[in-house]
Amino acid sequence: MSISNNGNLKLAIQKKGRLTEKSIELIKLCGIDIDNYSERLVVQAYNFPLEILFLRDDDIPEYVQDGVADIGIVGENVVVSKNAQTEIVEKLGFGKCSLMMAAPENITIKTIKDIEGKTIATSFPRVVQNYLNENKINAKIIEISGSVEIAPALGVADMICDIVSTGNTLMMNKLKKSISIFESQAVLIRSANKPLNQAKQEYLDKLLRRMRSVLTAKNSRYLMMNCPKSSLEKIEKVLPSIKSPTILPLADENLVAVHAVIPADYLWKIVDSLKSLGATGILLSPIENMIP
Ligand code: ATP
Ligand code: MG
Repeated sequence: MSISNNGNLKLAIQKKGRLTEKSIELIKLCGIDIDNYSERLVVQAYNFPLEILFLRDDDIPEYVQDGVADIGIVGENVVVSKNAQTEIVEKLGFGKCSLMMAAPENITIKTIKDIEGKTIATSFPRVVQNYLNENKINAKIIEISGSVEIAPALGVADMICDIVSTGNTLMMNKLKKSISIFESQAVLIRSANKPLNQAKQEYLDKLLRRMRSVLTAKNSRYLMMNCPKSSLEKIEKVLPSIKSPTILPLADENLVAVHAVIPADYLWKIVDSLKSLGATGILLSPIENMIP
């Protein structure tokens, strides 16, 4: 199948890499059915006017800029480093990582000033240069496309600036993390200067509504518990005030069931208060979709 001009919205995602699985998961959680994608360049969705293009992540910003794809999912670090004419429509909350300065033990980098005069190896020269300019620091940048972390050991650079999520690779190469210069996550981008036709804009709006409801649901949990009627007022005060909770009668007249949607990490902040107010049978479950 080749890239067609059938009026469908075209979404570019990474063909094979760290963002592929999560990108496909997001599309599926939006209720969009797609076929086994692994072998093809383009896949047509069954139940949505959407075509998915599988590309190297480096190529996505430019293809979106030029309108080869209408939208794309790619790391924000790649968007910035490619400097293509695109804009971020939505931050997607996965593929999180930091672009960090790291140096061998014998070089101490405590503040930005310590970078002055150093040689930095990186795959993201543009992002690093922006950072140096913003902080009025002079340093030499050496562009390396892969395995940046071995540059100091080879004597090519004093330090590096690379993507870090766990820090294991740095540790193995005896490098110490210092300053984070950019926090990245996967983002949905569109062209900054090629407006979509009306039909495609409507498809995008529809897709975005679905994506936003998936993202909100991901960050929320459904809390259920039984509470003594006598402490209901206090328990309601402990719950976040996003929406009023659902109160249901129980066979035992002294108790009520309380159901509420809360932020994903919130239970641990309030669990002790809930227990001391007599809440029992506390259940927390994920939410697949949340439509405002
Ligand atoms: P491609 O073959 O598509 O060019 P790649 O090797 O350039 O792939 P990946 O390593 O798959 O890219 O990373 C894709 C994106 O995942 C990165 O640009 C970054 O935004 C994000 N990411 C999250 N965690 C990490 C990590 N630990 N290391 C590298 N990238 C990460
Ligand atoms: Mg790449």
